[in-house]
Amino acid sequence: MNHDVIVLGAGLAGLAAARDLSAAGADVLVVEARDRVGGRVEQAVLPDGRLVQLGGEVVGRAHTAYLELAAELGLTLVPSYVAEPGRMARATAEGVSAGDPPHWFGPGDQACHEQVTEAFVALARTVDPEDPWSLPHAAALDRLSVGAWLRGEGASPAVVRLWEIGQLALASGSYERTSLLAALRKHAAVPGDDPYAYEDWEGLRVAEGSATVALRMAAELGHRIRLSAPVAEVAIRPGGCRVRLACGETLTADAVVSALPVGPLRSVAVTGVSEARLSSLHRQRQAVAAKFAAAYDKPFWRSLDLNGLSECEGVLGSTWPQSEGILSALIPPERYGVLLGMPAAVRDQELLADVARLYGPEALQPFTSYLRMWGTDPWTQGYVTHWSPGDVMAVGPLHGTHEPPFYVCGSDQWVAGYMEGAVRTGRAAAREVLRHG
Ligand SMILES: Cc1cc2nc3c(=O)[nH]c(=O)nc-3n(C[C@H](O)[C@H](O)[C@H](O)COP(=O)(O)OP(=O)(O)OC[C@H]3O[C@@H](n4cnc5c(N)ncnc54)[C@H](O)[C@@H]3O)c2cc1C
Repeated sequence: MNHDVIVLGAGLAGLAAARDLSAAGADVLVVEARDRVGGRVEQAVLPDGRLVQLGGEVVGRAHTAYLELAAELGLTLVPSYVAEPGRMARATAEGVSAGDPPHWFGPGDQACHEQVTEAFVALARTVDPEDPWSLPHAAALDRLSVGAWLRGEGASPAVVRLWEIGQLALASGSYERTSLLAALRKHAAVPGDDPYAYEDWEGLRVAEGSATVALRMAAELGHRIRLSAPVAEVAIRPGGCRVRLACGETLTADAVVSALPVGPLRSVAVTGVSEARLSSLHRQRQAVAAKFAAAYDKPFWRSLDLNGLSECEGVLGSTWPQSEGILSALIPPERYGVLLGMPAAVRDQELLADVARLYGPEALQPFTSYLRMWGTDPWTQGYVTHWSPGDVMAVGPLHGTHEPPFYVCGSDQWVAGYMEGAVRTGRAAAREVLRHG
């Protein structure tokens, strides 16, 4: 049976694309490698009914496509950890401190931090996030790392360290190997006076659980989703595309929407698409990270006047409270190898020791914990999109574009990943398919 559209991947992007196509009357089939939907959003249920998000979790007020979808699905947005009272903690080899300034700041560092922040924000105003390539000196800005730019602007070592510890907290890859142009582009997509305004990017969460967004879309799509069906080959031909599954079965459709992360996509043999389109897709990369979550009876860190948010130079890069008594944490790419080297049996205890450094010995006794190694999961091979120096120019203006009847979407196809990127590009891909009939 020939379908109108086959969507590859049942993450937020693929599901959002398929949902809109189906609503417009198209015959859609979604093929998904895993035995579940959601991709990088996934949740576990505790015996007391609390949900634990193992992947994508928070969104911000600037994430308009995601917020609109959540409303359509009848889901509720509530304030995230950003609204928690109390101080943020920072842990480095020299010590732990709470609140600002960080313990390694000396005289003049705060003023220096404010000065480079202003310069970054002003420079970002010159970047069009849809077309960073047209900026004069785009290639030079892309070659420069954020770390090198900071030093060029006269940032003190303490200020560079503050920016770096913040970046590792997000687990998106060190600023020493992040393109300045990519960082400016991300900021230009959600402009403001702060290089990373937490309210805009992370101030909200879906009360019913962020993975429920995927589950609700999947419930609407029903039998149009085929699970445990990894795609091995895609042949694009106008009027007749073929998708071969790893099991050998061949499916046909008039159009194909790829909603695969860039890592797994490299292992799918794609023909009938221009070399330029394909090599741009293959040139993208991801930051490799893991997420750790520990569930406690109560948020004991509050008694220390701490909000559960931290930036760390341990194996963990950060912690934050995901909901009452549940602490989330990220292991950034720079420390992922350390985690891989640990015997699996001691990983949780070693990560809890990092948490205990911040919040005391109570942290060592969660009633359960979860470690999700997304970076080495074959169907993700990463965490969020990462742009090393030179990548914005190398991927080029074909980033996020379609070559009908081959369409692409997914968080990697937006400026900075995120669930917003998945929903935004998924729905945009559906509109393009419908426009081309
Ligand atoms: C630990 C972690 C924390 C995060 N935190 C946040 C956050 O707080 N806020 C936020 O906005 N974002 C966050 N993100 C990012 C966000 O979750 C992702 O950007 C988004 O969910 C990606 O959606 P997607 O549909 O583009 O890709 P995915 O969710 O990766 O979906 C792709 C799908 O394709 C499938 N697939 C892969 N290969 C094949 C194949 N060969 N054949 C068939 N199917 C295949 C996969 O199984 C998967 O289901 C986080 C991500 C992680 C991993």
